[in-house]
Amino acid sequence: MSMDWILECSGCGASRGPGGLPSVCDACGRPWLVRYPDRPAPSLTSRAEVRRGQGMWRYRPFLPLGPGERPVTLGEGDTPLLEAPRIGRRLGLSDLWVKDEAANPTGSFKARGLSAAVTRGVLAGARHFVLPTAGNAGVAASAYGARAGVPVRVYAPSTTPLPILDQIRAFGGDLVLLEGHIGDCGKAARAYAAETGALDLSTLREPYRIEGKKTLGLELAMQFGWSLPAVILYPTGGGTGLIGMWKAFAELRAAGWVTDPPPRMYTVQATGCAPMVRAFDAGAEGATPWPDPWTVASGLRVPGPLGDRLILAALRESGGGAIAVTDEELVQEARRGSAEEGVDFSPEGGAALAAARLLREQGALRPKDRVVVFNTGAGWLYRSPGDLPPS
Ligand SMILES: *Cc1c(COP(=O)(O)O)cnc(C)c1O
Repeated sequence: MSMDWILECSGCGASRGPGGLPSVCDACGRPWLVRYPDRPAPSLTSRAEVRRGQGMWRYRPFLPLGPGERPVTLGEGDTPLLEAPRIGRRLGLSDLWVKDEAANPTGSFKARGLSAAVTRGVLAGARHFVLPTAGNAGVAASAYGARAGVPVRVYAPSTTPLPILDQIRAFGGDLVLLEGHIGDCGKAARAYAAETGALDLSTLREPYRIEGKKTLGLELAMQFGWSLPAVILYPTGGGTGLIGMWKAFAELRAAGWVTDPPPRMYTVQATGCAPMVRAFDAGAEGATPWPDPWTVASGLRVPGPLGDRLILAALRESGGGAIAVTDEELVQEARRGSAEEGVDFSPEGGAALAAARLLREQGALRPKDRVVVFNTGAGWLYRSPGDLPPS
């Protein structure tokens, strides 16, 4: 018995086995989530083993990999969890941390999700992948495809930062640029998949990227000595990381590996594309697509996330919230934060810092709260030589 998990629909609750190349629920079109009802709960003995392991696949007791199966890996995970005392002092937060996902192979946390998705895709016999991207997912898909020896077609907006497009090409991705946003790229990717039989790796259109992103939450807990912070500030596009971490915290608590209450989760978006903030503020169950999305933080340019209901449920259950920051604020915070701490903040990471400032000013964060800001990708991927003003 190798695949000891099932897929459960996040919309209608239908379930199915993991065989084949599952996309979304046939009945209602909502994303599948992986469940492990037949796997014994990971024991406290395996918690010690996990500590001795390496990279994100050390969390194998929580991941969709059967005995004897080998992952497609580039050493993703094990990223630094850093105290940020200077930024913290400036913002009035005495226990501020940065989870620096820029340290992943391919320069962003997209490595985690794509390592898991490409692993399952290859084991299921996929010979060809396709994905639409706002940028970093295309870099990661191209790299993991190369690692597995499987070609990858990537659709990206022509406005994607040039260093990101260069990285996609460097890893051998078959890059097609489109006028429009990631939603338009998604349509092109689905048409290509239907025509060629390529496996569509879009966010939440296959169930395993979430499982890879879940390791963000598992790793955070381990790095804090199996405890959880009070607050997480997460720059949100499609929301895989937020949904994945929320799932991780539930699974960790169910296994008895942590006993802390889960963190208050905050979605951070840019004012030029904030469908989740608008839906949260309206008390809605789902989001309506944002017209003409624009922000320099290209990872946040997702006008209609497929996981909208899962994101909103996690924000509300956790007692967190949603907040939008302007491009001016996020760019400035990324620059300041990089110079203050030596962390290469991406615009998305800058957005999370800007949100920390606003939430502190609004009183939603208390001075002593343990707050974790996610720097989801590397700043250099967004800069061309000479972009920064002379200091
Ligand atoms: C993709 C991406 C995001 C958004 O991640 P989701 O999990 O899709 O919400 C944030 N920051 C960066 C740098 C990204 O590449």
